Amino acid sequence: MPDFDRLAGALQAIAPLRLETNVPLAAHTRFGIGGPADFFGRTADPQALASAVQACREAGAACYVMGDGSNVVAADAGFRGLVLRFTAAAVKIDGGVVAADAGAKLQSLVDFTIERGFEGLHTLTGIPGSVGGAIYGNAGAYGNSIDQFIERVDYFDGAAVRSKDNAACEFAYRESVFKRHKNWVILGGALRLPAGDRQALRARADEIRQIRDEKFPPSMLCAGSIFKNLHIRDLPAAAAAEVPRQAVRAGKVASAYFLEKVGAKGMRNGGIAIASYHANLLYNRGGGTAAEVRALVCELKSRIRKRYGFEVEEEVQYIG
Ligand SMILES: Cc1cc2nc3c(=O)[nH]c(=O)nc-3n(C[C@H](O)[C@H](O)[C@H](O)COP(=O)(O)OP(=O)(O)OC[C@H]3O[C@@H](n4cnc5c(N)ncnc54)[C@H](O)[C@@H]3O)c2cc1C
Repeated sequence: MPDFDRLAGALQAIAPLRLETNVPLAAHTRFGIGGPADFFGRTADPQALASAVQACREAGAACYVMGDGSNVVAADAGFRGLVLRFTAAAVKIDGGVVAADAGAKLQSLVDFTIERGFEGLHTLTGIPGSVGGAIYGNAGAYGNSIDQFIERVDYFDGAAVRSKDNAACEFAYRESVFKRHKNWVILGGALRLPAGDRQALRARADEIRQIRDEKFPPSMLCAGSIFKNLHIRDLPAAAAAEVPRQAVRAGKVASAYFLEKVGAKGMRNGGIAIASYHANLLYNRGGGTAAEVRALVCELKSRIRKRYGFEVEEEVQYIG
């Protein structure tokens, strides 16, 4: 049984931790969903972050590290324990590499690299969220993902601050070693990018931004794509054979292809709907709940399983 009184006392004693109690997670997630977190702490100080993690451990309480909340569904009942955000947000050139703190907006990092004529991250323009969240889920779009440029990631593993090089981060499509160690906190990363033409990079980034804003209007309450795309090699032969060749890019097919076939577009469950133009986009019409998201997700998974015999896997992460 967690000792919340002990936790409250220990957290209050950590000076550089901005601590609030009973904080509605709906206000901190792009989906606009989620009940209260008992404790919500923000700090830009790695030592304070380590102390907060340790306080949770000593009180037997849960701790969830959140970035900007753009890829999470928080439970309607909220979170019993501490939701912790690392807010250090510097982006700079350091020893020939681009160094970014985990709390920086991914877009700040993208803009920084474009302005300095570094090529690669420009295609990630418009992906919401923090650098930490992007590393955790290996964010990517339009042919590039962040892992291609990561040289090193610094993280706190509950005992000490450590670093991993690119190979040790075990990046794969929307995967990293950090997804399998949910108690680790990413503190920042070092990236190396090739040189490019600044104006051309900005022009391409602006094009991508326009396409994205049409697909995901900035005011839309959502988490981007709800399911991961699929490696065609992993699909049952009959399902793979149904996919037209032009729908396969870099060995992957959009899960929206199959979701559309099972009637996802336009489905609704209470306040949650699936976009009429994109079968992998669940959004909150207002007043939607996590229970409604989960029920819709379950229904879609079941339809895909029954018709095609494989599982679609959520890209979105659940809190609580
Ligand atoms: C409109 C829209 C469009 C999107 N388009 C794309 C896209 O094109 N490509 C793409 O890849 N994603 C996309 N996403 C998903 C989302 O933007 C990314 O997954 C993003 O990188 C999440 O960052 P975040 O800071 O918001 O993380 P959060 O949503 O806060 O957290 C996501 C996960 O990361 C973990 N995490 C966050 N920070 C840390 C940290 N410092 N240390 C350890 N773990 C951490 C959390 O525990 C959680 O499990 C989209 C989302 C939206 C809303």
